[in-house]
Amino acid sequence: MQLPTYVHKDNLGQWGVFLEQVDRVTPHLGKLGVWADTLRRPKRCLIVDVPVRMDDGTVHHFEGYRVQHNISRGPGKGGLRYHPDVTLSEVMALSGWMTVKVAVLNLPYGGAKGGIRVDPKPFSSSELERLTRRYTSEVGIIIGPDKDIMAPDVNTNEKVMAWVMDTYSINVGTTSPGVVTGKPVNLGGSLGRRDATGRGCYVVAREAMRRLGMEMRGARIAIQGFGNVGDAAARIFHQNGAIIVSIQDIDGTIYNPAGINPYQLRDFLSEGGKSLLDFPGAERISNNDFWSMDCDIILPAAHENQITLDNANNIRARIIVEGANGPTSPQAEDILLDKGIIILPDVLANAGGVTVSYFEWVQNSSSFFWNEDEINVRLDHALSDAFKAVWELGQNMKISLRTAAFVVGCTRVLEARQLRGLYP
Ligand code: NAD
Repeated sequence: MQLPTYVHKDNLGQWGVFLEQVDRVTPHLGKLGVWADTLRRPKRCLIVDVPVRMDDGTVHHFEGYRVQHNISRGPGKGGLRYHPDVTLSEVMALSGWMTVKVAVLNLPYGGAKGGIRVDPKPFSSSELERLTRRYTSEVGIIIGPDKDIMAPDVNTNEKVMAWVMDTYSINVGTTSPGVVTGKPVNLGGSLGRRDATGRGCYVVAREAMRRLGMEMRGARIAIQGFGNVGDAAARIFHQNGAIIVSIQDIDGTIYNPAGINPYQLRDFLSEGGKSLLDFPGAERISNNDFWSMDCDIILPAAHENQITLDNANNIRARIIVEGANGPTSPQAEDILLDKGIIILPDVLANAGGVTVSYFEWVQNSSSFFWNEDEINVRLDHALSDAFKAVWELGQNMKISLRTAAFVVGCTRVLEARQLRGLYP
């Protein structure tokens, strides 16, 4: 199939990884395979210029994107990322994974994603607010509670979602909480959303461990990333008796074979100006040692392309739980599978966030709110059921869990595509 001209065939980046995953699933889609090219092209890509007046009076321009990969099953759904390495290719891949993920969970959404190519770390709060509001206004023509709904991702949070919601609402002239999820609870956010992605990682790991005859109590876990996903995952695994032996973030890696207390680490970092490496409850080790650690689970929760040909051979963990999107390259995955390592793929393992986002959106449209226990129980059921479907398909068809998850998700998407037919 011809590639869109806006991606370069020699430099496909993460979009190339997504295309390879689609290629791997296509032979398993039966007659629906004739529609698979639908997945190889995003439906809509919007690139916007985001000019921002900085506090010193100068104006800087940033490149922003919103991609709607597929909306056959419902409005687009996907996070908003601020990072200096964001590219159109990356946002396309992330939106494609959202298409598959929401379908694996059978949520009535399509896949979307947004990003701004910016390092937000040196920004003041008011610069960040102006950046967010201008971006929201620029992509306002394609987002909305029934069109495309944003959520937090790397370097964005509840506060950013509140600005998105307010800007969109002002532009359309009505208060519109359903345009974002992951917003503050008193703006219509859902209880349980903050920890939902990390909780989902725990649920799928627990289900896999049950089937593999492994105990959660005493299981040794190494986590890359201590942000929205990694922090929540660390706390929930810890609450359930697992031992967090190592944590890596942008500053480096820490290790304690007796266990790192994630609550103490969070308190330590929240004092501000502190580095993970100075946490008194652990020793520093090299970033390379993180990947070769003797542990039961590695949970990448930072960025794409972290498990590659460079480190896959050294990995000794029994299970990889993909909290991050796209952390494993297809070539590294082949090595891990050959070694018998179980990979719980991103489109299943980190789907807890979008599942509770869906609960938030439903609560917003009905203006009726659930308590946190109800949310957590529904999340647990949704992910356990999705895990079971993917696991059993993987066993029956003798395919990897990623390909099995893609079979489940892509079948739902392409069935919808076929039922809707081609216009005109
Ligand atoms: P975040 O910005 O809150 O945290 C990112 C973490 O990664 C930080 O601790 C940072 O220090 C660390 N990090 C950054 N670069 C690193 C590097 N080179 N080496 C090691 N660590 C590094 O982001 P997040 O929202 O937790 O998202 C993490 C991943 O999870 C992303 O892939 C995201 O797409 C995915 N994800 C997030 C959600 C969500 O609800 N936030 C949902 C699904 C998937």
